[in-house]
Amino acid sequence: MKSLLLFRKDLRAGDHKGLKHLIDNQRESILLYVEDPQDRLLKSRGYAIRRGLLSRLNRRLGQKIHFERGDTYTILDQYVKDFGVGEIVLQRQYEPWEVALQEKLKSLNVRVVLVEDYLLLPPEGGMKSDGTLYLVFKAFYENWLKKITPEGPCTYDSSQLKTLWVKDAPVEEAPNPLDYPAIDDFFMNGVASYATRGDDFTLEGTSRVSALLNNGGISPRKLWYLGRISDAFIRQAAFREYYIHWMYYYPEVLQKNFKRVDYPWSSSREDFLKWQRAETGYDLVDAAMTQLNEEGWIHGRLRMVAASFLIKDLHIDWRWGEAYFYEKLNDADTALNVGNWQWMAGTGALHQPYFRVMSPLAQKEKYDPDGTYCSRFLKAVHEPMVDHKISRQLFIENFKIAQEQSKKNEA
Ligand SMILES: Cc1cc2nc3c(=O)[nH]c(=O)nc-3n(C[C@H](O)[C@H](O)[C@H](O)COP(=O)(O)OP(=O)(O)OC[C@H]3O[C@@H](n4cnc5c(N)ncnc54)[C@H](O)[C@@H]3O)c2cc1C
Repeated sequence: MKSLLLFRKDLRAGDHKGLKHLIDNQRESILLYVEDPQDRLLKSRGYAIRRGLLSRLNRRLGQKIHFERGDTYTILDQYVKDFGVGEIVLQRQYEPWEVALQEKLKSLNVRVVLVEDYLLLPPEGGMKSDGTLYLVFKAFYENWLKKITPEGPCTYDSSQLKTLWVKDAPVEEAPNPLDYPAIDDFFMNGVASYATRGDDFTLEGTSRVSALLNNGGISPRKLWYLGRISDAFIRQAAFREYYIHWMYYYPEVLQKNFKRVDYPWSSSREDFLKWQRAETGYDLVDAAMTQLNEEGWIHGRLRMVAASFLIKDLHIDWRWGEAYFYEKLNDADTALNVGNWQWMAGTGALHQPYFRVMSPLAQKEKYDPDGTYCSRFLKAVHEPMVDHKISRQLFIENFKIAQEQSKKNEA
């Protein structure tokens, strides 16, 4: 049977369940990547990472990946008809549009092999016995730890892959901007001290693996294996799976608050622009936004500080911030981005009371008292846009009213 492997967020040659399937079953295989204009990542800095990894993978597979632009389903339909494909193999994905595509593929009347290769625990494993998802992270994590069966990497002899080149549709070369030595160094030397150093953005004590992981440049099995000596690291990695499960079961959270609150958001484009341009007048927020704009990556704590400021000081809708982060981050991921933004807003599933507001001044004092981080990124000094104490109080009062109103409306 002729197979077609559609690459998704699984851009690696080793430890790849789809490739293993093709090799074990001695399939003649067409390898394909589709750049779909509907893909949200195309408008994000994250797409450069995706293209770089695709290019690297293509070289590893002897330049045998076909590259097409257009609607994924239409292109697959065409390949099935033109080249007599009898089987489509693809990694299972969880965004609502991916789920819809996976469902639609059934109408192609070919065998569809969905490979579970993006998570250690598929969403079905995150369910309680009553059929609902573990929403409290502690319970989710305990269940996750019990159920994951960290297998070793899946192995095969790549030279046995029988690829077919059916059309002149090559992958163009693209640079790969990932800092592999830094990631390797973390897993060799840094992971043991992740629990003590990972939380402090001045220490550079995190893995920087996110962009690689989100595009499947590393498998979840290997991530677990490399990180297993640190409970703190494995716990963070489980957060990723938590948010993906959450999006899978509650896809509406991509647009709507999980907790029903109709907050009267500010619609000030001017304030939003100042935040984007690192002109808030709060050094830590401005340094973080500058690093985000320039490098496409900031430490998780800085993401929290910047997000908290937008939501709770400027009273701007978390969805605006989510869209901006998604555009600028090189590790942009819808589930993780939305999950964290909703958490910061106090509208998500994880416990984070709306009245817990991060102070950019206290955070700077605690983590960057001598200003080493800030001076690295600050370009100019600005007048503070708002008085943090006053805007914080206003947010808390308005949120309380909005929450009570929503409860009344529901009753
Ligand atoms: C407002 C906001 C937006 C975010 N948007 C994204 C995003 O678009 N893409 C993204 O990958 N991460 C996002 N995160 C989560 C987190 O900040 C990044 O995953 C992490 O900073 C990436 O750096 P690292 O790989 O060095 O992390 P490490 O600290 O080394 O953690 C290892 C891995 O654990 C996972 N992880 C760590 N923290 C979280 C978390 N809070 N939620 C979910 N998974 C986590 C990630 O997969 C990460 O790569 C966001 C966090 C916030 C507060």
